[in-house]
Amino acid sequence: MQFVYALRSKGVTDGRVLTAMEKVDRAKFVRGIFADRAYDDMPLPISSGQTISQPSVVGLMTQALQVSNRDKVLEIGTGSGYQAAILSHLARRVYTIDRYRRIVSEARGVFEELDLGNIIPFAGDGSYGLPEHAPFDRILVTAAAEDPPPLLLAQLRVGGIMVVPVGQSDAVQNLIRVTRTDTGYEYDELRQVRFVPLVEGMGD
Ligand code: SAH
Repeated sequence: MQFVYALRSKGVTDGRVLTAMEKVDRAKFVRGIFADRAYDDMPLPISSGQTISQPSVVGLMTQALQVSNRDKVLEIGTGSGYQAAILSHLARRVYTIDRYRRIVSEARGVFEELDLGNIIPFAGDGSYGLPEHAPFDRILVTAAAEDPPPLLLAQLRVGGIMVVPVGQSDAVQNLIRVTRTDTGYEYDELRQVRFVPLVEGMGD
């Protein structure tokens, strides 16, 4: 309950998002010595030098994505799998990609343990998206890109929304919401964030 109060105080007010976040135990996605910090509002280290995002940032990004239970969602940057697990309670189906095979296989294990059957994890370079499953109603990028990746924009359906941190990886980035319209794309700046970079190619 403390966890939900903390989220509310940081601006996560959408009831569906808060309910989904209440259902997903963050401790399942954090290993070893950091497990007892799972309910703190801070990013934590996971495998392969990556991080599980701060819960309030996960909440604000999920809220900005305006997911409905009919949506097919693509997430770039599976990491711990925490964000995908929250999306799985809000969407019809969640495709998630990470460039580290180890990260994907660990996340897949947690999705199976939690019986989250509507998440489909892939190992691959997320900058290419998943053309064979496009178009997507929603796309969430959880690594910082220098610009919204053009191949991902192309896989958004008309009326669809993409949320992506944009900026250099060593600086503060802007969280951007892109809405695809009949004639092009509309961009809104939401807030400042800090994410690890979107890196081309597969990880080790
Ligand atoms: N959403 C995650 C946190 C993401 S951390 C969570 O809920 O825990 C960012 C992740 O993006 C890292 O795991 C990193 O390996 C991945 N990543 C970076 N560049 C990528 C790319 N081009 N394709 C796929 N994944 C990428």
